[in-house]
Amino acid sequence: MRRYSVFAIAREAMRYHQGWERAWRSPDPKAEYEVIVVGAGGHGLATAYYLAKNHGVKNVAVLEKGWLGGGNTGRNTTIIRSNYLQDPSVAIFEKARSLYEDLSQQLNFNIMFSPRGVLMLAQTEHELRAYRRAEHANRLQGIETEMVSTARVKELCPILETGGPRYPVLGGLWQARGGTARHDAVAWGYARAASDLGVDIIQQCEVTGIDTAGGRVRGVQTSRGAIRCKKLAIVVAGHSGVLAEMAGFRLPVESVALQALVSEPIKPVIDVVVMANTVHGYMSQSDKGELVIGGGADGFNNYTQRGSFQHIEETVSALVETFPIISRLKMLRQWGGIVDMTGDRSPIIGRTPVEGIFVNCGWGTGGFKAIPGSGWGMAATVAKGEPDALSGPFGLERFAEGRMIDESVAAAVAH
Ligand SMILES: Cc1cc2nc3c(=O)[nH]c(=O)nc-3n(C[C@H](O)[C@H](O)[C@H](O)COP(=O)(O)OP(=O)(O)OC[C@H]3O[C@@H](n4cnc5c(N)ncnc54)[C@H](O)[C@@H]3O)c2cc1C
Repeated sequence: MRRYSVFAIAREAMRYHQGWERAWRSPDPKAEYEVIVVGAGGHGLATAYYLAKNHGVKNVAVLEKGWLGGGNTGRNTTIIRSNYLQDPSVAIFEKARSLYEDLSQQLNFNIMFSPRGVLMLAQTEHELRAYRRAEHANRLQGIETEMVSTARVKELCPILETGGPRYPVLGGLWQARGGTARHDAVAWGYARAASDLGVDIIQQCEVTGIDTAGGRVRGVQTSRGAIRCKKLAIVVAGHSGVLAEMAGFRLPVESVALQALVSEPIKPVIDVVVMANTVHGYMSQSDKGELVIGGGADGFNNYTQRGSFQHIEETVSALVETFPIISRLKMLRQWGGIVDMTGDRSPIIGRTPVEGIFVNCGWGTGGFKAIPGSGWGMAATVAKGEPDALSGPFGLERFAEGRMIDESVAAAVAH
């Protein structure tokens, strides 16, 4: 595949952009693959890319029932940070954050990583103590994050109302190298680079059944026929339980809708990401000028990939308290995604009760930021057939062993 560069743009400009190739191949499925990855979201595509790049496993197919990046990867609010609480979480999220730093160069695709800083507001005494605890933990873990005063919060984000009325800002947890990236570009960049290494990306190909014999995976049934495989990686976020059921086991995961919205575009007013967990809302500004706003998840299980009026009202009324200047803006778009939540709000990566089937799910409301690290760890697990240092702690067996990696206390909203 030809490299994207300033020279390539100049060359194509001279010939009316007639010479660009398709970004990835769209082959027909082969009869058999060494590894099949189900789900062409960021995590599935990154898994396929690192399988080929880091482990030389190139006989790989990624099967996607819709279009690549059309799941949560293309629906999230793109917050990237690594200041979690528990050691295993920090390890995988920081691996991901550090890979994001030069991912555009690695993939030869501009993913628009913008380390503009993430500010988590402390609006109660409890939150202040929890963030101080995270700051101390992060220092021991080698993560650069710091508690900042209310005055510094105001300096970082002048449009913020720090004085109340219900919840005055008491301080904030600030990760200067956190930020955002363009979500579609992350999916497209991994897809293009994986395809270039020989991975077959097959869209409009729904997995409808999983074939097993003698406790081992043999292949999958799809809307485009049966495909055999030696190993199967299930990376389908909100549909993980559905795929697990096809293979005959259950996952401790619940699926709920999570929503977001954007305002009409305005001139730049905020150049950091602000999360206000007490009032339950967060906001950043996209390069197009839209305010990107997210809130909480539904309180009941469902598979509806759309928004609802009551969530818009809750989220916007919470944020208007914190950012009074947004009160007269119009909403431009609103949408939802199906997120996969575990009890301890940490992901599941690793082997399953069926030999040869691996799972990567449970990223819930906060897995966009993890895509590079998750793909890296999942690829190692699938290639070697056993957990590696990054993914090992997140095995399914932790629920039977009672070894939770509890991030629910650390961050009620885990974006
Ligand atoms: C509104 C919202 C805001 C969010 N905000 C943030 C944020 O700010 N920061 C952050 O870090 N995270 C955030 N997240 C979470 C993040 O989006 C997800 O954790 C992450 O994108 C999950 O990626 P994935 O690749 O696992 O899943 P997905 O991107 O959902 O990909 C799974 C794919 O599997 C496919 N699939 C399902 N079933 C089948 C089948 N039977 N056969 C074939 N294919 C199938 C689906 O079509 C889908 O494309 C947010 C999520 C939402 C919904």
